[in-house]
Amino acid sequence: MPFDLSLVDLVTRIKSGGFCAEAVMDAVYLQIDQHNSLLNVYRSLLPREIAISRARIIDEKITSGKGVGKLAGLPVSIKDNICINDPYLSNACGSQILGEYHSPYNATVVEKLLEEDALIIGTTNMDEFAMGSSTENSSFGVTRNPWNTELVPGGSSGGGAVSVASGMALLALGSDTGGSVRQPASMCGITGLKPTYGTVSRYGLVAYGSSLDQIGCITRGAADCRYAFSILNGHDVNESTSAKIELSAAPEVAELSSLRICLPDEYVDAESADPEVIASVNELAELLKKQGATVERRSLDFLKYVIPTYYVLAFAEASSNLGRFDGIRYGIRKQEQPSLKSLYTTTRKKGFGEEVKRRIMLGTFVLSSGYYDQYYGRAVKVRAWMEEQVTLLFKDFDFILGPVSPFPAFKLGEKTEDPLAMYLADICSVLANLTRTPAISIPGRPTMDGLPVGLQLMGRRFEDHRLLATAEAIQELTEYHLLRPEKYFPQNH
Ligand code: GLN
Repeated sequence: MPFDLSLVDLVTRIKSGGFCAEAVMDAVYLQIDQHNSLLNVYRSLLPREIAISRARIIDEKITSGKGVGKLAGLPVSIKDNICINDPYLSNACGSQILGEYHSPYNATVVEKLLEEDALIIGTTNMDEFAMGSSTENSSFGVTRNPWNTELVPGGSSGGGAVSVASGMALLALGSDTGGSVRQPASMCGITGLKPTYGTVSRYGLVAYGSSLDQIGCITRGAADCRYAFSILNGHDVNESTSAKIELSAAPEVAELSSLRICLPDEYVDAESADPEVIASVNELAELLKKQGATVERRSLDFLKYVIPTYYVLAFAEASSNLGRFDGIRYGIRKQEQPSLKSLYTTTRKKGFGEEVKRRIMLGTFVLSSGYYDQYYGRAVKVRAWMEEQVTLLFKDFDFILGPVSPFPAFKLGEKTEDPLAMYLADICSVLANLTRTPAISIPGRPTMDGLPVGLQLMGRRFEDHRLLATAEAIQELTEYHLLRPEKYFPQNH
């Protein structure tokens, strides 16, 4: 089955004729036909016959001896906020306000995927404009967790994570502003990478918090993430924050014995932390020690400021970025009275959901004259200070270890009434965005009920290759990434 192979192995087999792209697509569409209606993964999807015909083109290229790319024939999903110009697909960013928006151009990451002959089959459900941690803020209904369909899949890239966890895609692209690639990956038992800010182009990603947003990849294991990242990464002249710095090289197989790991007290002693999640973190810490690594507990005082700093900055940037959705340029247009003001206000009132409106209002407030210095200006300074602290910390340590989320997947509806509780759950993930560092979520030991638990490793800026190689070496030992929701893969059991 295609689901048992790594992306590299699968592509190698497709290229050598051991497997055909059509059969891979067929297997993925079988999963989609059976499970998409309940799990609600895809926002827009290629009709089956179109997907199959595109797969056949790849097979024909191979049989006629033409060269194909590094992702030849692989079914890939992209988050609904990554622009794609395809007659069958649309971008709504999980929002009513965009209607069925068709992008006139492809995001750079989409171009890169297509250049390597990947087959992008659909756009995946997400929290509206990537604001949320459970995919419950989508205007198009919730996405369900394949491990237990009464639970959230995490968010905001919940659709993308579920597409990989349920075999409806082999690679998913998501966006991570404060954890949205890592946290759903953690809740769905798979692997999610948030690369160093600037290493993967944001051109064509609909902006939420531009200084925090980063496109990342979601795959079953770290080896696949590593492969996908090597294709997606690179400078882009179309994107002003795209980094020109060469990434540090890493050995093919990472050495675990010499690693120095920091385990912050605040991550493991937090009151909200689930004991089973902490047990899972400790298990990995012990395993690393057995390999010869040092794992040291440290209290990091600045961690108490990460949530307020993140939310002030993210809301401020969102309020500015979402100004463009005004009923003139994109999507729906509503009007109560014949005036321009009514066109703006009615469109925005009817088009945006509750959480997005809350954030726009709070963001506008923290940027308003009189309050700017007190909130936004201060958050910018705190962020700079945190970056210094983290740089210092990385003189003593190679990685920071922790959970991704303080708890495993929770019940649908459990936290929707309490936005603050939802924000506080981002305590472990937002630091990587604030400090622009790379971080990966890998599956750890599941809970007694068999629910996935994600563990996070955060590395130095531009050491993404090393982070990925280390995650891969850990997965070679733990093999937790091989677990999957049985019901969705009966052929494997
Ligand atoms: N949960 C965070 C938020 O709501 C992160 C979202 C994201 O990374 N897009 O802002």
